[in-house]
Amino acid sequence: MNKQPLLQKAKNIVGARRIHALDRCDALLAKLQQNPAWNSCTTQLKQAQIAFAQSHGQDQVACQKIAKLKAQQAGILQKLGVHPSKLQPQFHCKACQDRGFVDGKMCKCLQAEFLQLLGESSNVANKGYTFQASTEQNPKNAIVYEKAQKAMDDGKNLLLLGNTGTGKTYLVCACVNHAVAQGKTALFTTAYSLNSLFLECHIGNAETRQAVMESLMEVDVLAIDDLGTENVYKNVTAEYLFSLVNERMFRGKQTVVSTNLTLQSIRNRYDERLFSRLVDQQKTLVALLVGDDKRIVK
Ligand SMILES: [Zn+2]
Repeated sequence: MNKQPLLQKAKNIVGARRIHALDRCDALLAKLQQNPAWNSCTTQLKQAQIAFAQSHGQDQVACQKIAKLKAQQAGILQKLGVHPSKLQPQFHCKACQDRGFVDGKMCKCLQAEFLQLLGESSNVANKGYTFQASTEQNPKNAIVYEKAQKAMDDGKNLLLLGNTGTGKTYLVCACVNHAVAQGKTALFTTAYSLNSLFLECHIGNAETRQAVMESLMEVDVLAIDDLGTENVYKNVTAEYLFSLVNERMFRGKQTVVSTNLTLQSIRNRYDERLFSRLVDQQKTLVALLVGDDKRIVK
């Protein structure tokens, strides 16, 4: 999976908004220029403003003229049914004026677009998988569901252990949907997709790396399904995962991880640092789902 085009795609979406805003504004100004009353008023206004500036703010006649002409302009706009704000480009994002970056950093609007695309390209969390709709019969698992919902409300992280088919993915989706229902931003992804993204970051340029990692760090709830099914790339998988999980903890963002691995095999597969973050006692609910594979039809 190639993620670099996703960032480009997100940039294009934001960039298109800017072009659209500028075009609309240009089109309006061009239309106004065809109006003789507007033209005459605008020309006079410019002259008065120049006179006022040249007098270093002393020319009271010019000052009064400016006020009068501005009122005239407003009157013309009102007649034409044009709101004065429309004379400036109406950007979708005020922070970056639809450039996607502010002071060299990725703007929230571009992050949101990128995450949206990333979510769509990953296995999108099943919207029907909710705590309310759960038909979990196993009493032990039902307790885990209750605890998980509470942990989500308490802003905790989750590490869900259990064999294949014990309903981990359902629970991860339920957590994501629960967060979304509360107005939080959430991304459901698989360890496999995330790992591909890490690799892209690693071989990509600094801008891509910063943009992608920043987006992943900022989303309120990041769900990583099936940790352990991805390849372990040297200098990439454990390192990027640690940096992501660690920074998200620091920022108070929630991470939900599901895995078939046991705690011991998590420690063996990655490293002590990542392990200690994933099972952090104070900030994480570590829970085990039990039972037979639900996907096997008996
Ligand atoms: Zn923006």
